[in-house]
Amino acid sequence: MLKVDEEKCIGCGHCEATAPNTFEMVGGKSHVKNPKGDPKEFIEKAVRECPVNAITLR
Ligand code: SF4
Repeated sequence: MLKVDEEKCIGCGHCEATAPNTFEMVGGKSHVKNPKGDPKEFIEKAVRECPVNAITLR
């Protein structure tokens, strides 16, 4: 399950830039719009590179 912790998200937009069909910025926070929107490696990269570790995939 792919999830963004909105409390942690600082709205940098990196996850949306990395996996644009999966994440969407809404009101300055990232949301999952489609958990399988992009190839797995892009989603994993977004999870790994979030500067505040706000995204979890399990
Ligand atoms: S990369 Fe992390 S901090 Fe940046 S918008 Fe995505 S969830 Fe938020």
